[in-house]
Amino acid sequence: MKRARRQVTKTAPKASNAAEAAENANDDVSERIRTTLANAIGEGALKPGTKILEDAIADHFGVSRTVVRGALGVLESDHLLERKKNRGTFVAEPGIDEARALFESRRKLEHAILELVMERASAEQLDALEKLADEEEQIHHHGDEKSKTTLSGKFHIVLADLGGNAVLTEVLTKIVARLSLVMALYEEEKRDDCGADHHRMIVSALKAKDLAKAQHLMDHHLADIEGRVRLTEGQGDRHTFMAVLENFS
Ligand SMILES: [Zn+2]
Repeated sequence: MKRARRQVTKTAPKASNAAEAAENANDDVSERIRTTLANAIGEGALKPGTKILEDAIADHFGVSRTVVRGALGVLESDHLLERKKNRGTFVAEPGIDEARALFESRRKLEHAILELVMERASAEQLDALEKLADEEEQIHHHGDEKSKTTLSGKFHIVLADLGGNAVLTEVLTKIVARLSLVMALYEEEKRDDCGADHHRMIVSALKAKDLAKAQHLMDHHLADIEGRVRLTEGQGDRHTFMAVLENFS
């Protein structure tokens, strides 16, 4: 009697395990879809205004459109995608006010991060950061275009990690991703390097325990990036239109 009951209770969790496994598998795919699209956007392979083809994603990853829509929904709430009524989902095109707010948030955040890094990072961690800046400079001088683009933002995310506050790192990661859309839309002169020499000077200031100098160098570095964009109405449209001409001519 007891044994039979046990068997019944044994099969019940098995069925829910299978459902759970399927759900977990969908979660994994959903995460892969998000990472794939976020990386493609960050590296400029998917330009602002590009239509997201749900069918193609569903086919490629072998999942239903429901799973795809779930993944797109997350990217939408991260402001990397935007849904347009009756037209579908597109890579987001941040407006001018949003772009200004993103640059401002990044400045404030990077200051706070430097403060935490100064407090918490070990000498070994700063050595590793210096090594990264050196590698960036190597790639900047000798690397191909692809590896150059992949660099953008990496230094800043690693720096944020050294601050030891995962929430700040997460927020910065999202801001950097959104700023890559701003750069794609409004940058006047395309330059992929995120100032490898600036990065090295920032690390030197950190190693010398000079917070004010590190923050000042960071401001200068971010102002340099911001100085490459022209935030005027119509500039975004112009870039989108130029991209279309490039693709179709
Ligand atoms: Zn940088």
